[in-house]
Amino acid sequence: MTTVEHFEIVIVGGGIAGASTAWALAKNGHEVAVVEREASLAAHSTGRSAAQFLSSYSGSVNRELSAASLPFLEGDAGGWAEHSLLAPRAVLWVAPEGGEQRLGAIAAANEAIGTNCDAIGVDGSRALCPVLDPSWVHAGVVEHGGFDIDVAELHQAYVRAARGAGATVKRHSGVRRMARRGSGWQLDTDGPAIRADIVVNAAGAWADEIAEMAGAAPLGLTPYRRTIFTFTSRYPSEHWPLVIGADESFYFKPEGAGQFLGSPADEHPDEPSDAKPRELDVAAGIEAINQATNLDIRSIRSAWAGLRTFSPDRDPVVGFDRDIAGFFWCAGQGGTGIQTSPAIAALTAWLIGNGSSAIFEHADLGSLAPRLSPERFTAAA
Ligand SMILES: Cc1cc2nc3c(=O)[nH]c(=O)nc-3n(C[C@H](O)[C@H](O)[C@H](O)COP(=O)(O)OP(=O)(O)OC[C@H]3O[C@@H](n4cnc5c(N)ncnc54)[C@H](O)[C@@H]3O)c2cc1C
Repeated sequence: MTTVEHFEIVIVGGGIAGASTAWALAKNGHEVAVVEREASLAAHSTGRSAAQFLSSYSGSVNRELSAASLPFLEGDAGGWAEHSLLAPRAVLWVAPEGGEQRLGAIAAANEAIGTNCDAIGVDGSRALCPVLDPSWVHAGVVEHGGFDIDVAELHQAYVRAARGAGATVKRHSGVRRMARRGSGWQLDTDGPAIRADIVVNAAGAWADEIAEMAGAAPLGLTPYRRTIFTFTSRYPSEHWPLVIGADESFYFKPEGAGQFLGSPADEHPDEPSDAKPRELDVAAGIEAINQATNLDIRSIRSAWAGLRTFSPDRDPVVGFDRDIAGFFWCAGQGGTGIQTSPAIAALTAWLIGNGSSAIFEHADLGSLAPRLSPERFTAAA
């Protein structure tokens, strides 16, 4: 006889979106299961990020979600993290001559959200990062209040908190089919079949595929591949900022003594997949960093690629599908899914709980809900 397990809510995907929503929903008293296809919950985008909290990054909705999330991250995920989740890391945007307009826009974005930032010249930029090449760098904007995020610990804190509140987490449980059964869903997985009232689609790059399985219209989510590589250097660099080209052609930051993480900040449309780095992209990143600095990178230690999945307007999609009952979107987190995860999870729990109980006092959930709703893409259809 086939085994069928029953839960109130099943979350598809065990990355940061699935783990954080499991925490928020279980904390609100829902009976939750997370189903993840891989052996490791953070095998895809969540385990491949640059692990940075950057207040001014992305559009205004993401900046609001990031600001709302910061107190939770500073509070070590409500105490569920076993050590500090954030370590201060300033952010230095730099440009060669002609880049003043971009730096001005970055300073304006910071001012709009009240982040402390300073416009600085060549000397100020080199005081923060002495390897910047004085014949290249012309000006910079330093953004205070950035952080390195311990992503693995944050993800584990969510999983611990979710389990502590009664959630079930299943690995090796890829969802292969789903269909409406009565007033709920039946999901056929690599493990036992599952019945649930509500499906939360937290499948990252695969979110449109999961929607199609559920009979919902895809929203046009696009995974974009981004490359990261690591390299060593003799410079004592632990306290240097994250340095980003103002035109976003590169970034690099220290990763412990003598170690760096670098990226061409590339964005190539890709398929939902186990993304792999391409040599040309690594070479482009090395060239851009070598042009702006005296780091003289000649070889790398490792490289990886991950997918940043964006909706058509590049804001996340959080809310019930307009046409398919019991199908909830939690997708399109793009390049800020780690730093916005507390607020997005809180919004998810608030919407699924019909606005009954906010687990999180930092976000204006009522104002965020319509701006993140999937209906913004389907209303005209
Ligand atoms: C190079 C890079 C740098 C980044 N830097 C930052 C940064 O500095 N700060 C920041 O905040 N964000 C950053 N991001 C973005 C962040 O990593 C993502 O927004 C976030 O990880 C998305 O989380 P997710 O849970 O939606 O996706 P994922 O982590 O990809 O999780 C989705 C999961 O769904 C599972 N799944 C898919 N289909 C099925 C199925 N049929 N059945 C079961 N499971 C399924 C997948 O196996 C996967 O584990 C970066 C991303 C990349 C790639």
